[in-house]
Amino acid sequence: MKHKIVVVIGCDCDPDRSGYGGTAFSEPRLVWRGILQGIPSLLNQRNKIERKYGKKIKISWNVRADEQIKSVYGSTSWCLEEFKSLWETLNKEGNEIAWHPHVIRWNQKICRWYQEIDNLDWIAECYETGFNAFKIWGNFPRSLHTGWCFHNNLTLQKASALGIEIDYSALPGINTINGREIRNKGLLDVCDWRITPRYPYLPSKQDYRRPAKASEPSLSILELPATVCTTKSVKFLKRVHESFKRKTITPLLSSLGMGSVFLNITASPMLFSVCLNEFFSNIKQNKFFVTYFHSDELLGSEYKISVSSKLYSLENMMRNIERLISTAERYNLDITFMTASEVSKYLRGT
Ligand SMILES: [Zn+2]
Repeated sequence: MKHKIVVVIGCDCDPDRSGYGGTAFSEPRLVWRGILQGIPSLLNQRNKIERKYGKKIKISWNVRADEQIKSVYGSTSWCLEEFKSLWETLNKEGNEIAWHPHVIRWNQKICRWYQEIDNLDWIAECYETGFNAFKIWGNFPRSLHTGWCFHNNLTLQKASALGIEIDYSALPGINTINGREIRNKGLLDVCDWRITPRYPYLPSKQDYRRPAKASEPSLSILELPATVCTTKSVKFLKRVHESFKRKTITPLLSSLGMGSVFLNITASPMLFSVCLNEFFSNIKQNKFFVTYFHSDELLGSEYKISVSSKLYSLENMMRNIERLISTAERYNLDITFMTASEVSKYLRGT
């Protein structure tokens, strides 16, 4: 019998970022071409690959519902309502409609949005209202992929208490919390998964980043870490990119040391194939290939203003999926695309 590998692909359905022709959150109107144009283009291309390989390519669509959306549109559930017919179509096809909360807050004093990582009461409230916004959709989310992959003990405990079955925000070996140097710059993504293993686990209540030890209580939510890459050439190139994005040399310096990098499935096939080779060479340790992308990355090059945005594309994604399928065939593995909540069922045997 062929051994099975499971692929999970998540899409963070954010508004278009400025490098993709979008506007800043502080401007009156946000741009959502990634959802309105990018996703239909993806479905068209995906259908071709499904027919070619006889595989169903499922995707977990992670919808924004949080305080920032409420601040801009007056309703936490705005994205669920505005794009409802698209979510319904995707849901009927066997995909999953899931949740993508950002803990971003407006600071009136400096007139800037920032990532709230310290005020636990505010974060808990943001989670509570975001989760409850799904009432309008008819089903609460069963899986979670957080904004900028941020978690702390409180957020994962809160998600678990809300009944979410699985989270795949973990990026093993990655830590972007670099103290004041980065936090003083305001709206920049920070997360800490430096000690996280590469396989699925039930998180410790004491430390969300690792499995519970035998003597410790665990959370009921499953953590399914994303597939990261430790190959030196990919680490170096990704961190050059991050150094530009963060306007600090720290990521570049860290490429010389330990740690890992994550590549979106919309990234260059040349780099992505290196990650795939690393994954398939370690298939005995972990059979879950977990990745994600953003809806604006699906847009055509005419919308991509910044150099870094041109590095991601729908064409890359399709080539990477084909490479995933053909490599699995070469290794004589049975490849299955599951939604995140299907993985939860699969792992729990329910
Ligand atoms: Zn996001």
